[in-house]
Formats: sequence, structure tokens, C-alpha cells
Amino acid sequence: MWRGRECPPDGPRILHGIGGEVKKEKALHTKIAQIGVGFDHRFGAISVPIYQTAIYKKKFGENLGYDYSRSENPTRTALESAIAELEEGARGLAFSSGMAAITSLSFLFEPGDLVIVSDDLYGGTYRFFQEIIRKYGITFHYMDLSDVEGVEEFMKGKKVRAIFIETPTNPLMKIADIRRLVALAKTQDAITIVDSTLTTPLLMKPLQLGADVVVHSATKYLGGHNDLIGGLLVTADAELGERLYFKQKAAGAIMGPFDCWLLIRGMKTLAVRLAKAQENAEAIAAHLYRSGGVGKVYFPGLPGHPGNDVHFSQAEGPGAVLSFELQEGSILPHFFDSLKVVNPAESLGGVESLTTHPATMTHADIPEGERLRIGITDNLVRISVGIEDLSDLIPDIDNAIRACFG
Ligand SMILES: *Cc1c(COP(=O)(O)O)cnc(C)c1O
Repeated sequence: MWRGRECPPDGPRILHGIGGEVKKEKALHTKIAQIGVGFDHRFGAISVPIYQTAIYKKKFGENLGYDYSRSENPTRTALESAIAELEEGARGLAFSSGMAAITSLSFLFEPGDLVIVSDDLYGGTYRFFQEIIRKYGITFHYMDLSDVEGVEEFMKGKKVRAIFIETPTNPLMKIADIRRLVALAKTQDAITIVDSTLTTPLLMKPLQLGADVVVHSATKYLGGHNDLIGGLLVTADAELGERLYFKQKAAGAIMGPFDCWLLIRGMKTLAVRLAKAQENAEAIAAHLYRSGGVGKVYFPGLPGHPGNDVHFSQAEGPGAVLSFELQEGSILPHFFDSLKVVNPAESLGGVESLTTHPATMTHADIPEGERLRIGITDNLVRISVGIEDLSDLIPDIDNAIRACFG
């Protein structure tokens, strides 16, 4: 039985000096838990108020900074300054979805621009680049960004506008060295963009590694509860932030006040959610690695995972998404049909464990030949590990694997 923490033996009670000095700069976990606290000067609300308003009454000659909620809204301001602080960037911007954030970001590109992109890219971003933006004369070149020499070789004699990085990629968990890619980009005045959805500022801070812009699908870990769609951008410098702010208000794909509030509410528990999910993912990856019927396991936390030294030089933990292949002879649909705890559903980063079949779900828009070439095989399964109890998760996954060979 738990009896509480042991107290020090009797002695003089100390009033000062127990906990050290009060720090000027709060720890990341403190900042996350207290997002929005102090925002409401008028009534002192601990939870940021939802300013469900389109417009603001004006007094002649007075400017409180709010005119029209496409341009700015106080609830959004609270969220945008919070994400900028967490990423240690100059400017945060909130959008109606991760793709809306990426859309507004793409307005930076001009006809004739060449953009280098991770080949094992989020399917929706790939679809947007290929089906929509490409026709405006922008070329996207997909490469394995874990191969920095390959990127350097490719860049020779060309003019690159941007490098768009995902690391770890999803589903194959390929690792890109952000510092080295930033250095390469700088040789051509190209900007570096990092989609940091899988890591969140708790595990990795791309701007501190030299990147210019961070992208988040807030739908995933930041929201954390599979109850909202949202996207965020953070820039390292204020000037680029201002340019992107212009695109945000001009194109208008903003996050609404209620979703801003809901996202702030979700973000407050990010530290504990992610810690638990990550602990579960480490245990499941290790278990799968030893399991019969399972081929390759992709998880940055496994010792032999390619690039895991690079990953841990730029990130604090392995994250909580993993993929694995079922061995030849498995009947894949049985895996998804047999699960009772893990839910087959697209998306990742929520408290509930979810599984997808990348070949037919998240990556269905990538042409088959290209998909197979990069390693997203037909029997690849991805799991976004949630915060449930391992005693339910592991037997459920085991049982579903067994069913594939039955
Ligand atoms: C989900 C996701 C996106 C797109 O975000 P939405 O909120 O679904 O629009 C972009 N990048 C990554 C890595 C994602 O997982």
C-alpha cells in the first residue's frame, strides 16, 4: 500500500532555501500547464476566455489591436503566443487545419521555385503539393532526407528555395539531420521548414536547430484528444512571421475561437500524455521486435534503428508512433478486424491507440510504384500508441498478429 512520501527525520524546520531560487525562465512543463494563465486581465479567469466574436466595437482614436476576427482574435492570440513561446520562436500563427497551415506557408513560393521534400511524406502534404501547388509552377523534388550527401549532390548547380523536412517520417520513421540540412539550405539562401507534428516542442525544437519555420498539425499530439482539427506555424524571425501573418489574414484559413480554446485545453496536458504514450510505445516496440510473425519494426527508440543517433542528438525522446511489417503469408485484414482495444482509424497523437494501414489509408494517394520504392509495403502497419494500460494493449496486438496467420 502506498503510504506517502517519506519525510526527512525530525530537525529544525527550514523556511527558505529548500527548493532553490525561483527561476526567471519557467521550465517547459510549467509553461505548458499554464498556457493562457494571466491572459484575462479583467477578471483573472484561469482558463482563456472564448472570444466568440467576429468584430470589435471601436472608440474613435483608440486601437486595442482587434478589428475583425479573420485578422486577429484574442483567444487565437493566446494560443499563437503560447506556441511561439514553446518553440522559442518569434511568431506563432493558428490555422483551421495542418493542411491550411501548409497551404498558407506555400504562398511563400513563386513560380519557378524548387523545393526539396522528404520522400516518405505525410500523404496529405504530398497530395497538396502534387495535385494543387505544383500547377502554379513550383517543383517539388522528393528525396530521402536521411541521406544528406545525396541532398548536397542534388543541390549542386541548382537554386533551391526551401527544404521541407519531416523527421521522424511517418510511417517509416526515417531520420533527417536538421542541423546539417539547415547548413546546406543556408548555402543557397533557402529556407528550412520542419513539420514537427510527431515530436512536438516537448521532444524537439527545430527553430533551435536552425530551421526557419515549424509546422504542426495540432490535430495530433497538441490537441491530443481526437476532437479538433487545427494547424500551427511558428517562425524563427519576426519578419518572416509578419509575411506569413499577412498570408494568414489574406487567405483566411484561420482557427476559430472555440477550437483555439479547445486546443489550449488539450495542450495543457501534453507533457503527461506524451510521457505515458512514449513509455507505452517503447514497450510495444521492444515486444514486437521479439515477436514471431513480425518483420521489420520501425521505431527511433530501438537500438538498431537507422539514424537513431542523429534523432537523439536533436530530440529528447523516440515519440509514440511506430510501424511494423507482418511477415509473408499473413492475412492482413485479420489484423485490423481482430483488434478490440486499438482502434483502426486514421490519425495519430491522441490518447486512444490507433492503427492504420498506410498503403490503403494515409498513403493511398502516393502512386503504388513510388510507395513500394520508398518501403511502404502492403503489409506495413502503423500504430499511434495512446495512453491506455499496456496490459490491455500488448495482448490485443499479439492476438491480432496471431489472427493473421490462423
Ligand atoms: C496530420 C498531419 C498533417 C495535416 O494536418 P491536418 O490537421 O490533418 O490538416 C500534416 N503533417 C503531418 C505530419 C500530419 O501527421
